[in-house]
Amino acid sequence: MQIIRSIKKMQAAARQIAGKGQTIGLVPTMGFLHEGHLSLIRRAKKEADVVIVTIFVNPAQFAPTEDLAKYPRDEKGDIRKIEGAGGDIVFIPKAIDVYPEDFQTYVAVEKLTQTLEGASRPTHFRGVTTVVAKLFNITRPDVAVFGMKDYQQAVVLGQMTRDLGYPVKYIIAPTVREKDGLAMSSRNKYFTAAQRIEARCLYYALLTAKEMVESGVVAAGKIEREMRSAVKASSPSAQIDYIAFTDFATLRTIKRVAKGTICSLAVRVHGVRLIDNMKL
Ligand code: AMP
Repeated sequence: MQIIRSIKKMQAAARQIAGKGQTIGLVPTMGFLHEGHLSLIRRAKKEADVVIVTIFVNPAQFAPTEDLAKYPRDEKGDIRKIEGAGGDIVFIPKAIDVYPEDFQTYVAVEKLTQTLEGASRPTHFRGVTTVVAKLFNITRPDVAVFGMKDYQQAVVLGQMTRDLGYPVKYIIAPTVREKDGLAMSSRNKYFTAAQRIEARCLYYALLTAKEMVESGVVAAGKIEREMRSAVKASSPSAQIDYIAFTDFATLRTIKRVAKGTICSLAVRVHGVRLIDNMKL
């Protein structure tokens, strides 16, 4: 497995791969990898000849008040895991190379970024779309794999891919969960053992929604009330940022839930902001 840190070298390697007639699969990550990330790498390996995994904690997608400085890092462990999952190249660019001092060009998806995560984190998606556009330009992938865990991000990046005409097959892979249902996330490392138990509250709330819909309830307001109770029952101090019912592709709010509606929520548990979602 090759480790590349320079943008120029990554561009040259991508050109060489394409020159040999091989296809490229891209999996962008911020590192501190878990089984969720590894499932994307395995999926990319099924889709393409050469899999490039990027590790880049992207400053542009963090607000000044967020956890950029303390975001967990483990480069050695990540490299080992990527190799185990079948990655071929790890691309680890430096922030100063991705965003040189005079950097001033951003890619922004306008409408889809106004709601949900975008409403709570106004500059977040601009950072995500800008860095992924740069990664697409540098690595020239044939296939890119993203996680449903970050549902709105996946939809926004799909829109960007279509709008800018990238010739990239775009795959959204399912969320990988811990045994108790908590969606795997690098941020789960912030919890003490006791807090970690409370972090299940998002999954419990989603299960509550799923059960209600399966028993015939359609009113989003009613389901939301029960979800709020479920969160509070598992984590009394949790602060709910939002609970939303949306159409998968348009992210439009849905008042009468139907099969296929996406329920998503963001909750702050002991200071850690977690997101999760489920297809109802
Ligand atoms: P991150 O390192 O958090 O930026 O995530 C990199 C990619 O991994 C994104 O496409 C995420 O949606 C995806 N991802 C994160 N957590 C999970 C998970 N639990 N299951 C599947 N994919 C995930």
